[in-house]
Amino acid sequence: MNDLQFSDEIQTQRDFFHSDATKNIHFRIAQLKKLSAVLKENESKMAEAIFLDFGKSEFDLYTTELSIIYGDLDESVKKIKSWSKRKRARTNVLNMPAKSFIIPEPLGVSLIIGAWNYPFQLCLSPAIAAISAGCTVVLKPSELPSRTSAVMAEMINSHFDPGFFRVIEGGVPEMTALLNEKYDKIFFTGSIPVGKIVYQAAAKHLTPVTLELGGKSPVFVTARCNMDVTVRRLVWAKFLNAGQTCIAPDYLMIEKSIESIFLQKFIAEIVRSKFALENSNYVQIVNERNFDRIAQYLASKEIFYGGEMDREKRHIAPTLLTNVTFDHPIMKDEIFGPILPVISFTNLEDAILQVKERPKPLALYVFSDNREEQNRILSSISFGGGSINDAIMHIANQYLPFGGVGDSGMGNYHGIAGFRAFSHEKSILHKGNFFEPSLKYSPHTASRLNWIKRLMSWI
Ligand code: NAD
Repeated sequence: MNDLQFSDEIQTQRDFFHSDATKNIHFRIAQLKKLSAVLKENESKMAEAIFLDFGKSEFDLYTTELSIIYGDLDESVKKIKSWSKRKRARTNVLNMPAKSFIIPEPLGVSLIIGAWNYPFQLCLSPAIAAISAGCTVVLKPSELPSRTSAVMAEMINSHFDPGFFRVIEGGVPEMTALLNEKYDKIFFTGSIPVGKIVYQAAAKHLTPVTLELGGKSPVFVTARCNMDVTVRRLVWAKFLNAGQTCIAPDYLMIEKSIESIFLQKFIAEIVRSKFALENSNYVQIVNERNFDRIAQYLASKEIFYGGEMDREKRHIAPTLLTNVTFDHPIMKDEIFGPILPVISFTNLEDAILQVKERPKPLALYVFSDNREEQNRILSSISFGGGSINDAIMHIANQYLPFGGVGDSGMGNYHGIAGFRAFSHEKSILHKGNFFEPSLKYSPHTASRLNWIKRLMSWI
């Protein structure tokens, strides 16, 4: 029985929202600047916590989380005025004389739920979008990196009004209690099964959701790729965060004719870049449950390279599996760890079809310098977003909306897309008072109906 209740906390936020304080653009800008200052002040605390939680280095924290958060903060502070301006719209002849416009308005009280793998970025980037749009924020970070979650709670709860921005820590019981409340927006980042729980809870109150989920993201490498560049970028993208990245390349589809030489170069690059158990900056698997889940694949007879592990330190070495088919157990679920299954193909059309028959991926990457191959893959397969001749880096372009499609999620954010995710577009028709044709009013005679039909065919 779950006795937890958050109705008071949510009511405090609703009261704050109804005070209209967040409608003021200067208030939002001041809060964003304050957030930036608080983060800068606490960088060393964040670095210490995340290193203790799962061995993530200060370098990785800055490059994969803080730089993105600071980028979002700068962009929002600069653009918030233009994003929130009312926009003129055209008026159709039927409604003339009139003016039409659209007012972006904040949805209201928002609940943001974060995943653990980039804990600061996945919590704070949506929070920045919500604040920019004028929403209040209840933020629930993942409980798995517990020190990181505690630092986030301490930083936010000691600097912001709880009616405006509040961190509530906890796991499933807290989430279950939070999801019993009514919000005006829920923004969830996490796994597909929990995404379904969130979606069902939101449906009870008709609350709009953004679901940033996961899945298996494929990489296509064809014989027309630049092999050295491809290898370098892919090794980095796959083993960054020990493969625990939602848009990490999950599996490799490679043209058979280059497979052997490609794999040799791939292994050489793993060695050169020191993604290895003995490297103290190589990220740990987040907990034992995830370690055991990933380790089961290491019993596979298809291991071509790697396979070493250290359960005590929760480390798994970069591992390649070859001769994999879509029936292999590793092809069932998202791997979310440093193992790359390799599937070779001789016919690109067949390879495309195999991917199309599976759930829509969050990301897809094409390594080829051939325009036809690039276009064929991009136009044929539905997926959230991705890159040509790179991997992961599309997430670092704030001008590209980021999000999934189908099983990999719904809605998107970053830059103006984030502002829109937390806004409603209120449409207004402002009519003049000096002209009023009588056609639509009673009595509804046959001749009036004829006139209406004639007029409608002209406009
Ligand atoms: P998760 O779904 O286990 O947890 C996400 C959040 O949901 C956490 O805050 C957790 O406390 C909560 N939660 C967990 N179980 C719950 C339950 N039964 N009821 C209610 N709430 C619950 O995901 P995770 O392990 O933190 O993250 C890994 C997953 O997230 C992967 O699938 C990955 O692809 C995905 N992900 C997606 C993105 C993206 O931007 N699309 C980013 C990062 C991670």
